[in-house]
Amino acid sequence: MKNNIKITFLGTGHASATNCYNACFTLENQNDYFLVDSGGGNGILKQLKKANISISKIRWIFISHIHMDHLLGVLWIIRVSLPKYYKKIYEQPLYIMGNDEVIKVLRMICAELMPKDFLPLLDNKIIFITINEQRKYKILENEVYFFDINAKKVKQLGFNMYINLKSNTYKFTFIGDEPCYKNTEKFVNNSTWLIADAYSGGKTAKLNNPIKEHHHSTVEYTANISQKLNVKTLFLTHTLDNNLKNRKRLFTKYAKKIYNGNVIIPKDLETFCLNDLTTINNNSTLKIINKGE
Ligand SMILES: [Zn+2]
Repeated sequence: MKNNIKITFLGTGHASATNCYNACFTLENQNDYFLVDSGGGNGILKQLKKANISISKIRWIFISHIHMDHLLGVLWIIRVSLPKYYKKIYEQPLYIMGNDEVIKVLRMICAELMPKDFLPLLDNKIIFITINEQRKYKILENEVYFFDINAKKVKQLGFNMYINLKSNTYKFTFIGDEPCYKNTEKFVNNSTWLIADAYSGGKTAKLNNPIKEHHHSTVEYTANISQKLNVKTLFLTHTLDNNLKNRKRLFTKYAKKIYNGNVIIPKDLETFCLNDLTTINNNSTLKIINKGE
C-alpha cells in the first residue's frame, strides 16, 4: 500500500530529560522519512541507529522552533551528511524546513562550525527552506500546511498533513511543545491523529502547574481539548522523565478519564502504523511494531 505511514518516536522527553531522548519523531512511507524535530544533540544519531533509520533516507526535516532540545540534533545530521554528499555517497538532497528564526540560526551555526570544504554543499544538497505558512508543501506525497501555534516563548510552527488512505483523507496534526491555544483549535479540529505535548499529569501536574510555569501542556488539558475537537488518536510526548516506568500506564489512565479516543503514550523508539489508528477502538490493544526501550 502506497500510503502506509508509520510513526517512530525517536525521543519522548522534555528539554532536559536524561532518562530518554528529547521529543522528536519520524513519519515514513515505503521510500522516505520525514523527521519532525531533532532533539538536543548527538543522541539523535544513536536513536536513528537504534531505530534502523539510515540518514540517507531522510528527505525532509522540520524544526518547530529554535529551542535547543528541538534544534541542535539536526546539526549532527548535517555534520555526518556533508562528507557523504561530498564523496557522492548520498545523492538525493535533504530539505531542512523551519520558520525564519530556525533557518537563520542554522545558517549561522553551519557557517561557523561546519568544515569549510563542505560549505558549498549547503543550499545545493542540504537545502534550507524558510516555511511560508500560506503555502502548500508536499511531504511523503501528502499535502502539508504549516501554521503558527501562537507560542508564548518563541515563534513556533505546527502542521497538518493530509493523508490519503483507502479513498478517504485523514488529518495528521502536530502542535509542538506548548498547549493547544484557542487559535490552534481550528487546526486540531477533527484530526485523526494528534501529536501534542504533555509535560505531566495527575497530581504532579497539579503541583507543578506546567501550563503556567513552563507553557507546557498537561495530560488533562490536551485530553480535554481532544475530546472537544473530535480527535481520534492522541499521542502525548515531550514529558517529564522522572517516572518513565509508570508513565504509559498513568498518563493513559489520566487521559481516559476525560477522552474517549485512542490514547498513546509512546516510549522512545516505539513505532506505530497510522493506518491502524484511524478509528476509535476501545477494545483492541494497540499494536506496537517495534518495542521501545
Ligand atoms: Zn521542547
